[in-house]
Amino acid sequence: MNTKAHLALCLVTVLLASCCTNETPPAIPQDKAIEDKIDHIIKDMTLVEKIGQMTQLNATAVANGTEITPEGEQLMRTYKVGSVLNTPGDVAQTPEAYDKFISELNRIAIEETGIPCLYGLDHIHGTSYIAGGTLFPQEINIGATFNREHAYNVGKVTAYESRAADVPWSFSPTMDLGRNPEWPRMWESFGEDTYVNAELAVAMTDGMQGDDPNHIDEYHLAACLKHYLGYGVPVTGQDRTPSSITASEMREKYFEPFKECIQAGALSLMVNSSSNNGIPFHCNHELLTQWLKEDLNWDGMIVTDWADINNLYTREKVASSKKEAVKLAINAGIDMSMVPYDCQFSIDLKELVEEGEVPMSRIDDAVRRILRLKFRLGLFDTPDTSLESYPEFGGSRHAELAYAAAVESIVLAKNEGILPLKKDMRILVTGPNGNSMRTLNGGWSYTWQGHGASRPEFTERFNTIYEALDAEFGKVQYVPGVEYDLNSTLWSYDSADIAPAAAAARNADVIVACVGENSYCETPGNLVDMHLSQNQKDLVKALAATGKPLVLVLNEGRPRIVDELIPLADAVIVAMLPGNYGGDALAALVSGRENFSGKLPFTYPKYSNKHGVYDYKVSEQQETMLGSYGYNADMVVQWPFGHGLSYTTFEYSDMTVDKTEFKSGDVIKVTVDVKNTGNVAGKESVLLFSSDHYASCVPDNKRLRDFAKVSLAPGETATVTFELKANDLAFVNSAGKWTLEEGDFTLSVGGQNADVRCLETILWEQPNID
Ligand code: BGC
Repeated sequence: MNTKAHLALCLVTVLLASCCTNETPPAIPQDKAIEDKIDHIIKDMTLVEKIGQMTQLNATAVANGTEITPEGEQLMRTYKVGSVLNTPGDVAQTPEAYDKFISELNRIAIEETGIPCLYGLDHIHGTSYIAGGTLFPQEINIGATFNREHAYNVGKVTAYESRAADVPWSFSPTMDLGRNPEWPRMWESFGEDTYVNAELAVAMTDGMQGDDPNHIDEYHLAACLKHYLGYGVPVTGQDRTPSSITASEMREKYFEPFKECIQAGALSLMVNSSSNNGIPFHCNHELLTQWLKEDLNWDGMIVTDWADINNLYTREKVASSKKEAVKLAINAGIDMSMVPYDCQFSIDLKELVEEGEVPMSRIDDAVRRILRLKFRLGLFDTPDTSLESYPEFGGSRHAELAYAAAVESIVLAKNEGILPLKKDMRILVTGPNGNSMRTLNGGWSYTWQGHGASRPEFTERFNTIYEALDAEFGKVQYVPGVEYDLNSTLWSYDSADIAPAAAAARNADVIVACVGENSYCETPGNLVDMHLSQNQKDLVKALAATGKPLVLVLNEGRPRIVDELIPLADAVIVAMLPGNYGGDALAALVSGRENFSGKLPFTYPKYSNKHGVYDYKVSEQQETMLGSYGYNADMVVQWPFGHGLSYTTFEYSDMTVDKTEFKSGDVIKVTVDVKNTGNVAGKESVLLFSSDHYASCVPDNKRLRDFAKVSLAPGETATVTFELKANDLAFVNSAGKWTLEEGDFTLSVGGQNADVRCLETILWEQPNID
């Protein structure tokens, strides 16, 4: 009999650890001097001033372009507004324009209240809203690098260049867990896995904030973790629609990356616009106040997403008026409202406080958190920075980092020997993604929907795939075959003129067909059919019919279904959204000047009705049952999580574990040898998984527990060591409690396995374990 499940029932040891807030060490130890200053300020603030700190306006509500309008200034002064977001004019501005604009906002705010304005931008893959700034690959690509260093670099460069433009706050990193491939924001996170999202988001946060969250220097900024919580799995796949996450999954899979970042010092957080099992996140007291502020003893600041207090009334219908929505949200734990266009929020909240519906203590708590963030950012001492102190803004050192990240982020999914291409080959580049900076970058690039990346003033100096291949090989022709309207904010349409492309293919030695998606962002990117567009499929089929070797490049923010095209291609490259240096990186990889090392951070679906993730429940993959019932379940995929080829080969051997039996609190040392057995140098992401044989809740197929990236010369061997905490093998049971259960586990790395056994069952009473 399965001893583990049995023992789980009869040998439970309950650790009576405390769940009381005051015994949990603070997530960020406070600086007394800052707290004293807050006390000093807050005692003299009027209610209007306090609510003003809790109010965030969009830049377009206060300015026309970068010119603050008289009405905008009046709005700020009347309501004592403490925060502004977004790029003025809805398009990227120069750092000089930001410097001037934000200094003006600070002047107005300080004149009114003595408190500087907190300015925030969506710099989610570099300084995406600053002309001349550095744009990295999107997070989905950073996930594919399985390399913490790249996430750190994105954070560090983003912080430096944002501060150069006087911007101290970025709504990033995103750790939504892209587990529903239809969702139009899948590419904004590091993929489907909890651990990858946690590790890379922590690295990015470190890069953004530097070493001391209490004293952020002028080269760093405040991170804003988003979108809390479980935003990546809307049931329908449509943006901002409900999810149905269980309590155990919520804590075990979705909360963990946020928890890790908060414990690493993240200073602020933005909330998921939608609802889970009927409760909108913006009025979920348990998740906002209990899990974050009490259980983690976190003194950071929570901001809403776009108009999401109003949306409790207008969209979610859990409040019968805007005013009731304000009451629900603020009492649940929201500190700042992204209103974003008018100040009805301020009027409503003032009335609610006066009527005793929102306690003054809640207002004071929110204002303290906001002031604390402003102090931690040093805004009271230095409200403004200026470009001259940032000589590396948009410079070559940052470009090298973005290029290096792009190289490691592009995944070679199939290669039947055509790659690397020979230097003297005549290449036909075709497809709607072949000559577009917009599609390489995706959304949040110069404009919200990413169409700004088509504007020459922003991206002329970068290479599209066609331009980069031409620079690399010399004999390259581009015939689109299918085209998007690159200047439109609509992403989903393409038009075909296939015959010229097929004709050109006849004169080429190899076809590089660049297909996928145009850029999009959020709800406008909703999808009703996961297949690649019919025009693009027709193009690829017509090209394949010429008999010329075909390299398929998938430049897309989420995995579009391409199953019928895969057999037609000699090689398939999943480029995703590699950013401004993605064309150069791709050309260098295709020519063999660089080697592929990206691995898919998500499961690539084969069929549109068969979504899956690698940590599916074991019951989702079953042989046919004996007898006539014929039950089976098949987790069939195009390519699994972690799939990615290279020009070399790696051999794994000699996996060891330093103990085969363990208890809670132990650390299991795992080693494995990885050898480069090919003829060229290469990098390999080494992934450590665990599988729980039996558990009191249906176990996951497997879980990623650690990863490391090694760089190996031909013939070279590296011994990779992982220190796996036994408690990492715990899961959250159906009662929402962490438990580690007695029984057998298999650890695996690169096809090597080791069995280990847990000798005890532990059930934790406290909400979080380390
Ligand atoms: C998005 C957020 C973003 C915010 C501010 C919202 O629509 O959901 O991710 O940070 O806008 O631009």
